[in-house]
Amino acid sequence: MPFGYTGKILHVDLTQHRIETEAPDEVFYRSYLGGRGIGYYYLLRDMPPRTDPLAPQNVFTLATGVMTGAPIAAACRFAAVGKSPLTGTAGESEAAGFFGPELKKAGFDAIVFRGRSETPVYLWVTDGRAEIRDAGAIAELGAREVEDTIRAELGSDKIRVAQTGLAGMKLVRFANITNNLGHFNGRNGFGAVMGSKNLRAVAALGAGDLEYQNPDFLRKTATEYAKTFRKSPAGDALYVYGTTVFPEPLSAAGGLPVNNFRASALADAAAIGGDSYNSVLLKKRKGCHACPIMCKRVIALEDPVYGVDSRYGGPEYETIAALGSNLNIIDLKAVAKGNEICNRYCMDTISAGMTIAFACECFEKGIITAADSGGIELRFGDALLMLKLLEITARREGFGDLLAEGSARLAARWGVSGSPQCLCVKGQELALHDPRIKVGVGMSYALCTYGADHMNTPHDPSFVDPNSFALKSVNALGIYRAMPATQLSNDKVRSFVILENFWRMLDSLGLCVFGFAPRGVMPLDTLVACIKAVSGWEVSLHDLMQAAERSSMLARAFNSREGFSIQDDRLPGRLFDPKPNGPNAGTRIFSEEEFKAALEKYYAIIGCNPLTGRPSPGKLLEMDLEWVEKLLAAGDQ
Ligand code: SF4
Repeated sequence: MPFGYTGKILHVDLTQHRIETEAPDEVFYRSYLGGRGIGYYYLLRDMPPRTDPLAPQNVFTLATGVMTGAPIAAACRFAAVGKSPLTGTAGESEAAGFFGPELKKAGFDAIVFRGRSETPVYLWVTDGRAEIRDAGAIAELGAREVEDTIRAELGSDKIRVAQTGLAGMKLVRFANITNNLGHFNGRNGFGAVMGSKNLRAVAALGAGDLEYQNPDFLRKTATEYAKTFRKSPAGDALYVYGTTVFPEPLSAAGGLPVNNFRASALADAAAIGGDSYNSVLLKKRKGCHACPIMCKRVIALEDPVYGVDSRYGGPEYETIAALGSNLNIIDLKAVAKGNEICNRYCMDTISAGMTIAFACECFEKGIITAADSGGIELRFGDALLMLKLLEITARREGFGDLLAEGSARLAARWGVSGSPQCLCVKGQELALHDPRIKVGVGMSYALCTYGADHMNTPHDPSFVDPNSFALKSVNALGIYRAMPATQLSNDKVRSFVILENFWRMLDSLGLCVFGFAPRGVMPLDTLVACIKAVSGWEVSLHDLMQAAERSSMLARAFNSREGFSIQDDRLPGRLFDPKPNGPNAGTRIFSEEEFKAALEKYYAIIGCNPLTGRPSPGKLLEMDLEWVEKLLAAGDQ
């Protein structure tokens, strides 16, 4: 067994309350690496085709990667994987924080959940053992109360808790999972999957540190990184502002979503920008496990209406845009309160905000009336209304019961599926990045196997300057030429394929993209040296990226079996409209035909059928996935 892993995977049958341990061999770990790779392996192998994601048969996995918990910056992530109740596809969502490293210290690389407990439970994992415990008394409490109660019950405040909240127990389709109250497996609705299994939380505590092949090298590298990362502008900005640095430059570029993506700049973007945030909200900076970058925010706000509980963390860029600018709410205090509500109940702020924006536009256009919204007059720019809608959504009360289904299902109910105001791909709401200033992000929204996601690839502006550190750093991946952010060229498509695989590799390894080139400052050769120092493997970028590609093929095979095809890779029509603000305002950045042609090239490059998206037999052979080919062939008969 390589260093860096525990060599054990826990299998928990919640119907039978039965727990078993599997010890996979090294080939398994090298083939699937961790995180999404491990999760998709069990999902495709064991979940019956076309099963409801909220049925007990959903195979739901929490999985670390070989680097999770290593003593270097940004090595703390783990993945939640299963069939998404929002999209119906194979889905994943990665979180940083503290739970992943603690799960490993407690003795397991991953936990695979099947079945459904009759009553609410939580799983307690420590020192190579696991126990299913009653959660009846805490099932409907806020996230903070649940974390505190579990720690008190088990007798240690060092316990790390990953949990869903009331929104998950109520099966809100965009309910999420939080660990340490401020780190999220945000997208794809896996909080609802936990809720459907009556699994309120997983608590972990480990006694010892993991062993690494070359701990001295890791220590030296971590010390050097901590001393130098702020010398780069990108590293320094992450420390000083976190992701709250983005609203102002995005607005200046005409790429800040406003008014449900109908505008893309604000006259007073500074009011929700990084300096305002630091003066109005910031209490202190915080990092994840062993990470000196400290891009996480802790906020303090005493206010009769918007006062917040600091333990739930501060809003990041996506939340500032989803609950702020895109709803025409230019008020950081209101956004902070909305963020706290979402975090207390465990709801994805992106899908929650975007669903409210969709409903507001439908109301504005007369598609729905107060008779449809339980008497609520929906409108943009109303902060108190936004807070009320979040509360009733999490509780599934009144109109909130409809909002809890997400935009795509509401659009179907209201007869406006595919309308410009429904900003979803495969049923998942767009993140708050406008593809009209970053066309690669548009490809990512369309092509991602689980719907619109902004964490699928580095963003285009990194590769515009031929002398940028980001571009030079990916020379090692075979990307040499600068690319305009708004050009949908062959070069862009080819580079997208490579960069998508690279980011998937970071996900599979358990690494946060902010730590490593091209987004962060650690160069790729140092990264590979760290992976060797952790695992003891003789590895190259090539075989690591191939493992990441393998996991993507598992997801594509799953989706193909579920009936998804390239027809589902559609961007909302509004994104083909001329750019509303900023440089190139009034210009159409790309047409629907150009975009479709780019997607077909993508499928040709990755070795999947350009009509169905199904991996070709040759591709599966190349990926050492003949078992998948047999599985798909059996389904064809
Ligand atoms: S860069 Fe930020 S999100 Fe990533 S691990 Fe470090 S503190 Fe956490």
